Amino acid sequence: MADNKKPSSDKRVSLSSRVSKTPAKHPAAKTAPAKRGSNGGSVNLTQHTAKKAAAHQAKSKKPVGKIIMWSLMTVFLALCVVLFIVVYPLLKDMFGSGDPNAVHVPDEDVIGFTQTPSDISDKVSYYLVGLFGEDLTTQMESLALVCYDKDAGKVNIMEVPTDTILSNNDGHWAVRKIGNVWSNPKSITWCDNCKKQVFAPEIGDNTHSVCGSVLTAKEGSAPTNLIEAFNYEYSMPIDNYYLFQQGSLKETVEFLGGLDIKLEKSITLGTGDDKKHFEAGVQTLGGAQVVEYMTCDKTGVADKVNHQIARRQVWVALFQRLAALDADTMYKEVLYPVMNWDNPIKMHRLSDYMETDTKELCQLIAELGKLPKENFTFYMMPGEAAKSGGVSYYTGHKSEVAALLQQAFNPYGDPLTEANLTMEEITKTKNGDSKQQTFAQLTVEQTGIIAND
Ligand SMILES: [Zn+2]
Repeated sequence: MADNKKPSSDKRVSLSSRVSKTPAKHPAAKTAPAKRGSNGGSVNLTQHTAKKAAAHQAKSKKPVGKIIMWSLMTVFLALCVVLFIVVYPLLKDMFGSGDPNAVHVPDEDVIGFTQTPSDISDKVSYYLVGLFGEDLTTQMESLALVCYDKDAGKVNIMEVPTDTILSNNDGHWAVRKIGNVWSNPKSITWCDNCKKQVFAPEIGDNTHSVCGSVLTAKEGSAPTNLIEAFNYEYSMPIDNYYLFQQGSLKETVEFLGGLDIKLEKSITLGTGDDKKHFEAGVQTLGGAQVVEYMTCDKTGVADKVNHQIARRQVWVALFQRLAALDADTMYKEVLYPVMNWDNPIKMHRLSDYMETDTKELCQLIAELGKLPKENFTFYMMPGEAAKSGGVSYYTGHKSEVAALLQQAFNPYGDPLTEANLTMEEITKTKNGDSKQQTFAQLTVEQTGIIAND
């Protein structure tokens, strides 16, 4: 097929380039060859004159024309480079996205959130780990709270379904589902004079009661608002977040040579030339295949929760492959390139340098890699699918969530009870099931390699 097409398109190209060489500028000139044929030799004189004129033009003007043309092209190219490098970012900063319908997603402008109290921060750390939807403007695919108990050498993970309903808490959120917070951060009340966010007691008649300046509404920060959801709803501190854009998951897996996944049933992934069928059992999936396998095409809340539980082994395989490398190799050959690609892993900047932050993540993974796999435990947030106002949500069971957080996610903090949680419970028709599993139960030997082209 391709071989048949090529010559004909080559012909078309050479024909059109030939036609465009005729001196006539009017579009009608294109029909001239056909006319000439039907008129026989009657146009010879004009043709001859035209040819001569063209030859003369070519002789006297071509070198100068060429020089001018090349000079102009060089100047034009230089201008393009300058515009792209200097002016475009400035304009982008000034006006934002050109498309008025585009959802503006602010970058990691983290304004402030509750981190682990300093008196216990050397014993325990809290992280958010998750996967974004198709892009940063859609609902997230998955989200989990990770508690690393450094003293006990244990890691507990609570998956929070992205359909989970948020409380209607003092207008903290612009949306009701936790998976939509990043793409729709709540705007904040801001004092330009004090250069800080202002809260209820200090807000008086649209002015900051402390300094008297007029308050303004400022676009909220996506990461801050998402972290606040964990601070307020579940009374949990967050020290950092590692959220994969789908592109960064694809790239990470590619740099790792694929992931070995135990498929519960046969599956076809990819489309067109990339379409590939996999039988049930352990298979090595490439980057794009992993992303497709991870993303859920289900719409039912309960189905999405089950899908997430079934995909735990992808996170385990990803962790195994990363932790098999020493921190330096992990940084140089995997995470540094990923962070400098188009879709970096979203993380909180702890230093002035992305390199420092990425190295810190590599050190953390290498450190965790030394712990026994039995010490890592997944828990689904206990709750159930439910409807409110005609919308489908996942709702956590408040008493069960409080018990789980106190038992597995609060090793050194003040005791946590239901009273500390602002999360909303729509209904509780049965006991929740956290489908507890350790990494040891989900581990597949990582031996397959897919060449990265
Ligand atoms: Zn002020």
